[in-house]
Formats: sequence, C-alpha cells, structure tokens
Amino acid sequence: MVELYKQELATLKVKAETKYIFNKKTEPCFAALHKDIQNCKELSIVQRLVRYPFLTDGVVVTAETMPVLYGYVDALCKEHNVATPVVFISSRKSIFNAFAAKLFASTGGIFICQKLILETSDRELEAVIAHEIGHIKHDHVNKHLLLNMSTWIASCLMADHAFKKTGSKAVFLAQFFTAMYLPSLLINKRFEKQADEFACKEVGNASGLIEFFEHLEAKEVNAEQEHQEACQYTHKVLGENNAKLNIVHLISFNVDLYMIKINHSLTRNLTNFYKWIYHNTFIGAHPSPQARIAAAKKYLSTEVV
Ligand SMILES: [Zn+2]
Repeated sequence: MVELYKQELATLKVKAETKYIFNKKTEPCFAALHKDIQNCKELSIVQRLVRYPFLTDGVVVTAETMPVLYGYVDALCKEHNVATPVVFISSRKSIFNAFAAKLFASTGGIFICQKLILETSDRELEAVIAHEIGHIKHDHVNKHLLLNMSTWIASCLMADHAFKKTGSKAVFLAQFFTAMYLPSLLINKRFEKQADEFACKEVGNASGLIEFFEHLEAKEVNAEQEHQEACQYTHKVLGENNAKLNIVHLISFNVDLYMIKINHSLTRNLTNFYKWIYHNTFIGAHPSPQARIAAAKKYLSTEVV
C-alpha cells in the first residue's frame, strides 16, 4: 500500500528550494539559513512571533510544497469550522511526536515531526493530526493561559493574606504554589481526553487512534526485546572468545555486561514508576496509551450498536 505522506515527504526533501534544510550533509548553518528563508517567505514577523515555539526546528509547509498533507489539515479544519493553522514539519528526524497550539486570536500552528510521518501509516498520522486539531478547536492553549493567569493573581492574593496572618514564609510559599499549580493539574488530562474525543467522534478516526497507540506500545516492547537480544548475543560472543581473552579482560568484559544489565533494569523500573505516576495521577498531562485505546474502542463499540 502506498503511504502518501511518506512519499510526499521524500519528494520535499529533494526539491530545489528545500533540499538544503533536510540534507544531513548540509552544514547546520546553511540548513538553519534555508529554513529561516522558507519560514520568513510564508509568515510575517507577527505571525512568527505568536508561533515562536514552532520555529526552532519547524519548516512551514503549504499547499504548494506538501499538497497532500496540507490538503488533509485544511479539509479537516474547514469541515469542523476551525481556521486552518500554519502547518510545520520538523527539519530533523529527532522525536516521534506532534503538537498544536493556538495563541490568542491567531490561527495557531500544528507541528508534525518527520519521525511520525516516516514511522506511522497514513491512517495513524491522520488520527494524530485530528487529535491536534481537537486541541485547537477547543482552544486549549488560551484556556490554559487564562487559567494560569487568573490562578497566579489569586495565588498572590491568597499567599499574601496567609503571610499577613501567620508571618510564615513557608505558609506563603505553600499557599502560593498550591493555588498556582492545582487548577492546571486538575484540567491536564481533560484536555487530552477532549482532543481524543474530537478525533474519534467528530472526525470518525477512532481506529486510526487505536492503531497509533498500539504502535506506541509495540515500539516499547520492541526496544526491550532488542536490548535483551543484544545482552544474550554479547554473552554468547564472550563465551565463544573465552580462550582468546586473558583473564583480566574476561573479568572486565563480564563486569561491563553485568553493569549494562543492572543499569538498564534500574532505568526501566524508574521510568515505569514515573510513567505510572504520570498516567494514573493528576500530575501527568496524558492518560496512558492503554486508557486511550480503551476509550477509543468503547466509542467504536457504541457507534456500531
Ligand atoms: Zn494532545
């Protein structure tokens, strides 16, 4: 099956006006310069200012440079009464992610990492884009900003009142940080669920979202499998070269392998612990992939009935 977005990205990377941005052999200074030329050509200084976070690594793509990707975003937005945001793709392959933000009354921007285009199916990518457009449709960044500003003012007043009453700096700080961060911690996961709901219910791509989160989980399983295979293979190579290595090297290499295993196991347990806290308490912004798969499946089952 031809994956249109991958094909389009491959074409963009060899086009005369953009090839210097994406070619790994280009000196970073030239790559940055060509990226800036491309972005300044499309956006005014005010338009760039309200989309500042997108510009560090993002390249604007348009109906001319990536017609299929831009066309999908544009059609989706028109269908759901959202002003089409500026579409950026990352100039490097770095991370497997996408994000969207609409600041004040601007149309905002959607940032899609190359890695996401390269490693997902078209249907998965469209589901992620729909989720991001959901954030724009529900104006999540402005709501967050408004909430943060109002809680900042409220927390200053409350902390000042507490300080005047008790004279304790500790009470002042505790009051300040509680009032400051609590509301945003409480709404975090709601925004993600709302954006998922937009992709499932309004756009009708629950199956793409399920595929994407299953893909995320499979990536983790594969990475762990690759690590275990590398450990087993290294152990085998050490055994095969037993007779050719002197005792000092042999002990040292076996200790190295043991340390790699211990280090990996510790990091993995700590990461899993952090992820559990992030996904299952109000501290983290995102629900777990399993919870998001379950919600999308639940939606699909109710839709069929
Ligand atoms: Zn999101």
